[in-house]
Amino acid sequence: MKLLFAGTASGHPVTHRRCTAIVAEQGGNAVLLDAGEGVTSALLDHDQILERLASIWISHTHADHISGLPMLLQGMHLAGRTKPLELCVPPGRERWFRHWLDGMYMFEEKWSFPLMICAHAKSTYALAAESGSRDSVSAAMSSNAGSPAFTIEAQPNPHLRKVEDLAESHHMRADAFSFILHAPGGRVVISSDITGMEDIAAASENAMLLVIDCAHVDVEEIHELAERQPRLRIICTHIPPELEPRLPGLQERSAADFGGRIQYAYDGMEYTIENDI
Ligand SMILES: [Zn+2]
Repeated sequence: MKLLFAGTASGHPVTHRRCTAIVAEQGGNAVLLDAGEGVTSALLDHDQILERLASIWISHTHADHISGLPMLLQGMHLAGRTKPLELCVPPGRERWFRHWLDGMYMFEEKWSFPLMICAHAKSTYALAAESGSRDSVSAAMSSNAGSPAFTIEAQPNPHLRKVEDLAESHHMRADAFSFILHAPGGRVVISSDITGMEDIAAASENAMLLVIDCAHVDVEEIHELAERQPRLRIICTHIPPELEPRLPGLQERSAADFGGRIQYAYDGMEYTIENDI
């Protein structure tokens, strides 16, 4: 599996990083995890990745995670895409996404390709009976050859809990999710935005790779996790401006103390997961 870090900024606009967007690709299937501002130009740099995109998963609806979505869809439409695209959004937000696009005159009727907007949670409940889990969502992606390539699970996290009451007063839910990618050889955890290390502690146990939000977790906690789990590789993203001056030193420390197992993402960084999971 290959990961492409198309956008690695936190919620603070900066000149040298785009907002959050990660592509996971394997077996001809490309899935985009969040679509922050700048994602379209970032992906245009990569050979036909836009055509290979089968699905977009949105972790939560903060601006830095969705602000690039309309231009991405417009670009696909103008390029004459006909292949269907799935947009998986937090539960209860499907109609909002449709209205948002309608407000830009991006009406379904004139679309060059079918855009299926669905909630992660719908799959969850269907799967709940099988897996016994009420809180997780899975959607299997099939490779071009028809064999399963990898499965994405959206796991709720409390990132938006602090605005829950206010959101309710606006008749809105306040759901945020981390992503867990299951592949035949192992598990990749992509925290997206969280409130702290405890949100993804259980999920990252025995995972092969953890991609973690550096804006809401202290780097010392990341070092502690790397010590506790000597096989876990960690990529830090969602880099806040205040961390930038520390990055050279942190990279040196990673090389010296952790055999380079902790990396700090930059825009355009590609990462191939070992053992070809
Ligand atoms: Zn957020």
